[in-house]
Amino acid sequence: MLMAIAILFSVATVFAAHSPTALSDTTKTKKVKPAKVLYTCPMHPDYVTDKPGKCPRPNCGMTLVVKKTTAKKTAAMKM
Ligand SMILES: [Zn+2]
Repeated sequence: MLMAIAILFSVATVFAAHSPTALSDTTKTKKVKPAKVLYTCPMHPDYVTDKPGKCPRPNCGMTLVVKKTTAKKTAAMKM
C-alpha cells in the first residue's frame, strides 16, 4: 500500500515537473505571432485596414494611422 502511494507521488512529481515546461512552450509559440499592423482612420475608428493610405470615407481622406493593440485597453478605461 505504501509503495503504491510512493509511486503515485513520484508520478505526480514527474507530471508537475513536466507541465511548466509544456506551458512555457505554448506561451513561447503564442508570443511568436506575426506582427500584423492594422491601420485606422483617426476620425473613423470603425474603418480598419491592413494597408497604409488614406481614409476612403467621403469628406475625410485623412491619413490612416497605425492601430495599436492597446486600443482595447483604452476602450475599457473609457467605460
Ligand atoms: Zn476617416
